[in-house]
Amino acid sequence: MEQTGLIWIDGDLVPAESASVSVFDHGLVVGDGAFETLVVIDGTPFAATRHIRRLHTTLAALAVEAPSEQVLRQAMEQVVSANQVDRARLRLTVTGGLGPLGSGAPTGPVSIIAAIGPLAEPPTPAVVTAPWTRNEGGALAGLKTTSYAENVRALRWAKERGASEAIFANTKGELCEGTGTNVFVVVDGRVSTPPLRSGCLAGITRELVLEIAEVDEVDLPLDVLRTADEVFLTSTTRDVQGLTSVDDRALPVGPATDRVAAAFAELVRSGLDP
Ligand code: PMP
Repeated sequence: MEQTGLIWIDGDLVPAESASVSVFDHGLVVGDGAFETLVVIDGTPFAATRHIRRLHTTLAALAVEAPSEQVLRQAMEQVVSANQVDRARLRLTVTGGLGPLGSGAPTGPVSIIAAIGPLAEPPTPAVVTAPWTRNEGGALAGLKTTSYAENVRALRWAKERGASEAIFANTKGELCEGTGTNVFVVVDGRVSTPPLRSGCLAGITRELVLEIAEVDEVDLPLDVLRTADEVFLTSTTRDVQGLTSVDDRALPVGPATDRVAAAFAELVRSGLDP
Protein backbone atom coordinates (compact mmCIF):
# COMPACT_ATOMS: atom_id res chain seq x y z
CA MET A 1 0.00 0.00 0.00
CA GLU A 2 1.25 3.44 -0.82
CA GLN A 3 1.81 5.61 2.24
CA THR A 4 1.72 9.35 1.91
CA GLY A 5 1.87 12.29 4.28
CA LEU A 6 4.24 12.91 7.14
CA ILE A 7 5.54 10.42 9.68
CA TRP A 8 6.73 11.43 13.15
CA ILE A 9 9.94 9.53 13.81
CA ASP A 10 12.18 10.12 16.82
CA GLY A 11 11.01 13.71 17.13
CA ASP A 12 11.08 14.70 13.45
CA LEU A 13 8.32 14.92 10.87
CA VAL A 14 9.51 13.17 7.73
CA PRO A 15 7.79 12.52 4.37
CA ALA A 16 6.41 8.95 4.37
CA GLU A 17 8.52 7.98 1.33
CA SER A 18 11.77 8.71 3.17
CA ALA A 19 10.86 7.81 6.77
CA SER A 20 13.06 4.88 7.80
CA VAL A 21 14.80 3.07 10.63
CA SER A 22 18.12 1.26 10.58
CA VAL A 23 18.41 -2.28 9.16
CA PHE A 24 19.84 -3.09 12.63
CA ASP A 25 16.69 -1.93 14.41
CA HIS A 26 15.65 -4.76 16.74
CA GLY A 27 12.03 -4.18 15.77
CA LEU A 28 12.95 -5.29 12.25
CA VAL A 29 15.55 -7.92 13.13
CA VAL A 30 13.48 -9.87 15.67
CA GLY A 31 10.16 -8.06 16.16
CA ASP A 32 11.28 -6.59 19.49
CA GLY A 33 8.85 -3.75 19.96
CA ALA A 34 5.38 -2.65 20.96
CA PHE A 35 2.62 -0.86 19.10
CA GLU A 36 -0.81 0.66 19.42
CA THR A 37 -3.46 1.40 16.81
CA LEU A 38 -5.78 4.28 17.58
CA VAL A 39 -8.61 5.92 15.68
CA VAL A 40 -8.47 9.69 15.26
CA ILE A 41 -11.94 11.19 15.63
CA ASP A 42 -12.44 14.93 15.02
CA GLY A 43 -8.66 15.33 15.16
CA THR A 44 -8.33 13.58 18.55
CA PRO A 45 -6.89 10.08 19.08
CA PHE A 46 -9.68 8.12 20.83
CA ALA A 47 -8.92 6.70 24.29
CA ALA A 48 -5.31 7.93 24.14
CA THR A 49 -4.76 7.56 27.88
CA ARG A 50 -5.68 3.87 27.82
CA HIS A 51 -3.58 3.22 24.71
CA ILE A 52 -0.53 4.89 26.26
CA ARG A 53 -1.01 2.82 29.42
CA ARG A 54 -1.17 -0.41 27.40
CA LEU A 55 1.90 0.56 25.36
CA HIS A 56 3.77 1.12 28.63
CA THR A 57 2.61 -2.29 29.89
CA THR A 58 3.86 -4.04 26.75
CA LEU A 59 7.21 -2.20 26.81
CA ALA A 60 7.72 -3.03 30.49
CA ALA A 61 7.09 -6.72 29.76
CA LEU A 62 9.62 -6.59 26.89
CA ALA A 63 12.12 -4.70 29.08
CA VAL A 64 12.30 -2.01 26.39
CA GLU A 65 12.70 1.53 27.72
CA ALA A 66 9.41 3.38 27.47
CA PRO A 67 9.10 6.94 26.13
CA SER A 68 7.28 9.20 28.57
CA GLU A 69 3.56 9.81 28.28
CA GLN A 70 4.42 13.40 27.34
CA VAL A 71 6.60 12.34 24.40
CA LEU A 72 3.94 9.93 23.14
CA ARG A 73 1.19 12.56 23.38
CA GLN A 74 3.40 15.07 21.59
CA ALA A 75 4.14 12.56 18.81
CA MET A 76 0.42 11.90 18.33
CA GLU A 77 -0.55 15.58 18.41
CA GLN A 78 2.17 16.56 15.96
CA VAL A 79 1.50 13.79 13.46
CA VAL A 80 -2.25 14.50 13.51
CA SER A 81 -1.81 18.21 13.01
CA ALA A 82 0.96 17.86 10.38
CA ASN A 83 -1.28 15.59 8.30
CA GLN A 84 -4.40 17.70 8.92
CA VAL A 85 -6.57 14.66 9.46
CA ASP A 86 -9.98 14.63 11.04
CA ARG A 87 -10.64 10.88 10.91
CA ALA A 88 -7.79 8.43 10.43
CA ARG A 89 -5.88 5.48 11.75
CA LEU A 90 -2.92 6.35 13.96
CA ARG A 91 -0.20 3.84 14.69
CA LEU A 92 2.32 4.29 17.49
CA THR A 93 5.33 1.98 17.40
CA VAL A 94 8.24 1.77 19.82
CA THR A 95 11.07 -0.68 19.17
CA GLY A 96 14.21 -1.57 21.10
CA GLY A 97 16.27 0.42 18.59
CA LEU A 98 19.72 -0.65 17.42
CA GLY A 99 20.57 -4.20 18.38
CA PRO A 100 22.50 -7.32 17.43
CA LEU A 101 21.62 -9.52 14.44
CA GLY A 102 20.05 -11.98 16.84
CA SER A 103 18.01 -12.24 19.99
CA GLY A 104 20.42 -10.52 22.40
CA ALA A 105 19.19 -7.35 24.07
CA PRO A 106 19.11 -4.17 21.95
CA THR A 107 21.49 -1.37 22.79
CA GLY A 108 19.01 1.39 21.91
CA PRO A 109 18.12 4.17 21.95
CA VAL A 110 14.54 3.12 21.27
CA SER A 111 12.89 4.03 17.95
CA ILE A 112 9.59 5.89 18.27
CA ILE A 113 7.25 6.21 15.31
CA ALA A 114 3.81 7.80 14.96
CA ALA A 115 2.21 7.21 11.57
CA ILE A 116 -1.15 8.16 10.09
CA GLY A 117 -3.04 6.02 7.58
CA PRO A 118 -6.52 5.81 6.13
CA LEU A 119 -9.30 4.00 7.96
CA ALA A 120 -10.36 1.01 5.89
CA GLU A 121 -13.97 0.27 4.96
CA PRO A 122 -15.80 -1.82 7.60
CA PRO A 123 -14.63 -5.43 7.18
CA THR A 124 -17.09 -8.11 6.14
CA PRO A 125 -18.84 -9.58 9.24
CA ALA A 126 -17.76 -13.14 8.46
CA VAL A 127 -15.10 -15.02 10.44
CA VAL A 128 -13.50 -18.44 10.43
CA THR A 129 -11.85 -20.38 13.22
CA ALA A 130 -8.07 -20.61 12.87
CA PRO A 131 -6.25 -23.93 12.53
CA TRP A 132 -3.60 -22.67 15.00
CA THR A 133 -3.75 -21.89 18.73
CA ARG A 134 -2.87 -18.92 20.91
CA ASN A 135 -0.33 -19.87 23.52
CA GLU A 136 -1.79 -18.43 26.72
CA GLY A 137 1.41 -19.40 28.57
CA GLY A 138 3.81 -17.78 26.08
CA ALA A 139 6.14 -14.93 26.98
CA LEU A 140 4.21 -12.53 24.76
CA ALA A 141 0.66 -13.65 25.68
CA GLY A 142 -1.64 -10.69 26.11
CA LEU A 143 0.93 -8.19 24.84
CA LYS A 144 0.73 -5.94 21.81
CA THR A 145 4.17 -6.54 20.38
CA THR A 146 5.45 -6.03 16.85
CA SER A 147 5.95 -9.84 16.67
CA TYR A 148 2.63 -10.15 14.86
CA ALA A 149 3.46 -12.60 12.08
CA GLU A 150 1.23 -15.28 13.63
CA ASN A 151 -1.67 -12.88 13.21
CA VAL A 152 -0.61 -11.96 9.69
CA ARG A 153 -0.54 -15.65 8.76
CA ALA A 154 -3.94 -16.41 10.28
CA LEU A 155 -5.55 -13.31 8.78
CA ARG A 156 -4.32 -14.32 5.33
CA TRP A 157 -5.82 -17.76 5.93
CA ALA A 158 -9.16 -16.11 6.79
CA LYS A 159 -9.09 -13.82 3.75
CA GLU A 160 -8.45 -16.80 1.49
CA ARG A 161 -11.77 -18.16 2.80
CA GLY A 162 -13.74 -14.97 2.23
CA ALA A 163 -13.66 -14.02 5.92
CA SER A 164 -12.27 -10.88 7.53
CA GLU A 165 -10.99 -12.43 10.73
CA ALA A 166 -9.69 -15.71 12.15
CA ILE A 167 -10.62 -16.69 15.69
CA PHE A 168 -8.13 -18.60 17.84
CA ALA A 169 -8.69 -21.12 20.59
CA ASN A 170 -5.91 -21.27 23.19
CA THR A 171 -3.90 -24.42 23.90
CA LYS A 172 -6.72 -25.71 26.16
CA GLY A 173 -9.28 -25.47 23.36
CA GLU A 174 -10.92 -22.44 24.94
CA LEU A 175 -12.21 -19.48 22.96
CA CYS A 176 -9.51 -16.78 22.98
CA GLU A 177 -9.57 -13.92 20.42
CA GLY A 178 -9.17 -12.96 16.78
CA THR A 179 -5.97 -11.83 15.06
CA GLY A 180 -6.87 -8.22 15.88
CA THR A 181 -10.14 -8.43 17.77
CA ASN A 182 -11.74 -9.65 20.99
CA VAL A 183 -14.72 -11.94 20.76
CA PHE A 184 -18.04 -11.96 22.62
CA VAL A 185 -20.88 -14.49 22.49
CA VAL A 186 -24.54 -14.21 23.49
CA VAL A 187 -26.24 -17.31 24.90
CA ASP A 188 -29.81 -17.12 26.23
CA GLY A 189 -29.56 -13.32 26.40
CA ARG A 190 -26.32 -13.31 28.46
CA VAL A 191 -23.21 -11.74 26.98
CA SER A 192 -19.87 -13.45 27.72
CA THR A 193 -16.26 -13.01 26.72
CA PRO A 194 -13.08 -14.95 27.54
CA PRO A 195 -11.08 -13.68 30.55
CA LEU A 196 -7.56 -12.31 30.08
CA ARG A 197 -6.09 -15.60 31.38
CA SER A 198 -7.28 -17.15 28.09
CA GLY A 199 -4.29 -15.37 26.51
CA CYS A 200 -6.25 -12.66 24.74
CA LEU A 201 -5.12 -9.06 24.51
CA ALA A 202 -6.70 -6.64 26.96
CA GLY A 203 -8.44 -4.83 24.11
CA ILE A 204 -9.33 -1.22 24.85
CA THR A 205 -12.73 -1.69 23.20
CA ARG A 206 -13.27 -4.90 25.22
CA GLU A 207 -12.34 -3.04 28.40
CA LEU A 208 -14.81 -0.24 27.64
CA VAL A 209 -17.59 -2.69 26.76
CA LEU A 210 -17.03 -4.46 30.11
CA GLU A 211 -17.50 -1.09 31.82
CA ILE A 212 -20.73 -0.11 30.05
CA ALA A 213 -22.53 -3.44 29.59
CA GLU A 214 -23.31 -6.48 31.68
CA VAL A 215 -20.81 -9.08 30.49
CA ASP A 216 -19.59 -12.29 32.11
CA GLU A 217 -15.86 -12.98 31.80
CA VAL A 218 -15.82 -16.77 31.68
CA ASP A 219 -13.85 -19.63 30.15
CA LEU A 220 -15.73 -20.80 27.07
CA PRO A 221 -15.04 -23.71 24.73
CA LEU A 222 -14.22 -22.72 21.15
CA ASP A 223 -17.29 -24.75 20.17
CA VAL A 224 -19.55 -22.14 21.73
CA LEU A 225 -19.22 -20.43 18.35
CA ARG A 226 -21.28 -23.27 16.87
CA THR A 227 -24.23 -22.77 19.22
CA ALA A 228 -24.21 -19.14 20.40
CA ASP A 229 -27.28 -17.07 19.52
CA GLU A 230 -25.11 -14.07 18.59
CA VAL A 231 -21.38 -13.45 18.21
CA PHE A 232 -19.69 -10.08 18.02
CA LEU A 233 -16.17 -8.70 17.77
CA THR A 234 -14.66 -5.62 19.33
CA SER A 235 -11.62 -3.63 18.24
CA THR A 236 -10.42 -0.10 17.74
CA THR A 237 -11.18 -0.17 14.02
CA ARG A 238 -14.40 -2.26 14.17
CA ASP A 239 -15.92 -0.86 17.39
CA VAL A 240 -18.64 -3.45 18.16
CA GLN A 241 -19.31 -5.58 15.09
CA GLY A 242 -22.04 -8.22 14.99
CA LEU A 243 -21.16 -11.28 12.91
CA THR A 244 -23.31 -12.91 10.27
CA SER A 245 -21.22 -16.05 9.91
CA VAL A 246 -18.70 -18.20 11.74
CA ASP A 247 -17.13 -20.86 9.50
CA ASP A 248 -20.09 -22.38 7.61
CA ARG A 249 -22.68 -21.29 10.14
CA ALA A 250 -24.90 -18.27 9.39
CA LEU A 251 -26.21 -16.32 12.36
CA PRO A 252 -28.18 -13.15 12.95
CA VAL A 253 -26.96 -9.88 14.42
CA GLY A 254 -29.36 -9.93 17.34
CA PRO A 255 -30.73 -7.54 19.97
CA ALA A 256 -27.98 -8.05 22.57
CA THR A 257 -25.29 -7.11 20.03
CA ASP A 258 -27.33 -4.10 18.91
CA ARG A 259 -27.67 -2.93 22.52
CA VAL A 260 -23.94 -3.18 23.21
CA ALA A 261 -23.10 -1.47 19.89
CA ALA A 262 -25.50 1.40 20.68
CA ALA A 263 -24.09 1.81 24.20
CA PHE A 264 -20.55 1.91 22.79
CA ALA A 265 -21.50 4.49 20.15
CA GLU A 266 -23.04 6.62 22.90
CA LEU A 267 -19.85 6.33 24.96
CA VAL A 268 -17.78 7.58 22.00
CA ARG A 269 -20.19 10.49 21.48
CA SER A 270 -19.89 11.47 25.12
CA GLY A 271 -16.10 11.94 25.17
CA LEU A 272 -12.94 11.02 23.32
CA ASP A 273 -10.75 9.92 26.25
CA PRO A 274 -12.95 7.61 28.33
N1 PMP B 1 -6.66 -8.75 20.13
C1 PMP B 1 -5.58 -8.53 19.35
C2 PMP B 1 -4.61 -9.62 19.12
C3 PMP B 1 -5.40 -7.27 18.76
O1 PMP B 1 -4.33 -7.02 17.99
C4 PMP B 1 -6.38 -6.26 18.95
C5 PMP B 1 -6.26 -4.96 18.23
N2 PMP B 1 -5.37 -4.12 18.83
C6 PMP B 1 -7.47 -6.53 19.78
C7 PMP B 1 -7.58 -7.80 20.35
C8 PMP B 1 -8.51 -5.49 20.06
O2 PMP B 1 -7.97 -4.46 20.87
P1 PMP B 1 -8.44 -2.95 20.78
O3 PMP B 1 -9.88 -2.93 21.18
O4 PMP B 1 -7.57 -2.26 21.78
O5 PMP B 1 -8.24 -2.49 19.39
